[in-house]
Amino acid sequence: MKLERVLVVGGGMAGLHTVRSLREKGFQGAITFLGAEQHAPYDRPPLSKAVLTGSGRATEQEVGELAFAFDFAEAEVDCRFGERAVAWAPGVVSTETGVELRYDRLVVATGSEPIRLGFGETLRTYEDAVRLRARINGGKPMAIVGAGWIGAEVATAARDAGTEVVIHEARERPLAAVFPPQVGEAMAGWYAQAGADLRCSDPVDGPPPGTDHTLVAVGARPDTRWLGEAFHRAKDGSLLVSEHLETNVPGVFAVGDVAAYRSVRYGGRHIRVEHWDNALRGPQALVPNVLDGVGAAVHDPVPYFWSEQFGRMVQYVGHHTSADRMVLRGDLAAATWSVCWLDPHGRLTAVLAVGRPRDLAQGRRLVTAAAVLDAARVADAGEALTSAVL
Ligand SMILES: Cc1cc2nc3c(=O)[nH]c(=O)nc-3n(C[C@H](O)[C@H](O)[C@H](O)COP(=O)(O)OP(=O)(O)OC[C@H]3O[C@@H](n4cnc5c(N)ncnc54)[C@H](O)[C@@H]3O)c2cc1C
Repeated sequence: MKLERVLVVGGGMAGLHTVRSLREKGFQGAITFLGAEQHAPYDRPPLSKAVLTGSGRATEQEVGELAFAFDFAEAEVDCRFGERAVAWAPGVVSTETGVELRYDRLVVATGSEPIRLGFGETLRTYEDAVRLRARINGGKPMAIVGAGWIGAEVATAARDAGTEVVIHEARERPLAAVFPPQVGEAMAGWYAQAGADLRCSDPVDGPPPGTDHTLVAVGARPDTRWLGEAFHRAKDGSLLVSEHLETNVPGVFAVGDVAAYRSVRYGGRHIRVEHWDNALRGPQALVPNVLDGVGAAVHDPVPYFWSEQFGRMVQYVGHHTSADRMVLRGDLAAATWSVCWLDPHGRLTAVLAVGRPRDLAQGRRLVTAAAVLDAARVADAGEALTSAVL
């Protein structure tokens, strides 16, 4: 069948890069781009960083500065922003305005929505960030539920504004599901140094007393309910896709936060990566599979993300498990340090770098190459990580 119509649902980063890549790779058919938000796709990481600490400009100017540069008119893309997909049937997606959009290939890029607890606000969109900025600058104490990546970044912005903030974390330390105790405890120290009141082992089930404003930052879940029952999903609701990013429904693909892709690199498991770099790279692999046939390209990058918290640049590359050996480079109480993980064969599996971008850059190459490292030399923070290769 000739490929005439591609429909991309989800006006975020993964959707935008899919549209861009379709045209860059020469697709001349019709592209429809549907997005629930009113705005053209914009970059989300600044929402918990520069937007919160910024002085604030007119909405259109500020959101325009966050937007990805792309000329939709020149690329002849039928953009339908401010319109939500509500149902799927084979070959057709229905929107909330009752329009039926037919497609030859469908790309689902509907991202994640914050998990809500029935109280407080959440942070996902530009409008959320503008509301939060006003609260942070309002001078009244605030509470944050969850000491994860977003909780830490918002606590940073609150302290920068001189706002009192209490962070309620259910686990015994920040990021307990991701990092071992020493690392989480070092991160807990950053809160204290910044004057943020971090309370661990403190689950809350209602608005914490004594604050007008609570931000709930306990994670996000994939936005897939609108698709109905035909699609195979992981437990968290993400769409299970192959290494070619195709769902179990032929001709329907998924990319970005919404997808759990089969990773050959990680033993054929399905992994969901809720980070910017994945939404950037996924479309590069996706589009050849859409245009040239499934099998044309594989999506299996080494995961990467960063966070900016309490004046520190925190970067992580790779994927470690509890079976891996942790090797520290530097002093966890210092301003900069890194942690490396080596598997039982001595292969570098992951690097967490705090203020050490060189470790991150070298680590990324070494993790990709599955390089075997000498643990004692890795531990010498004065030497380049590459010098530890055996
Ligand atoms: C505040 C914040 C800070 C972040 N900071 C970092 C960071 O520092 N580093 C990092 O690596 N990552 C960061 N991330 C994560 C990163 O932004 C995401 O991984 C990335 O945005 C995922 O892109 P996406 O296109 O898959 O999904 P999204 O960006 O979620 O976009 C999906 C879009 O689809 C729309 N949509 C949903 N349902 C429908 C529907 N039914 N019909 C039509 N449209 C729909 C949504 O409204 C949304 O606009 C941050 C995320 C947030 C929220």
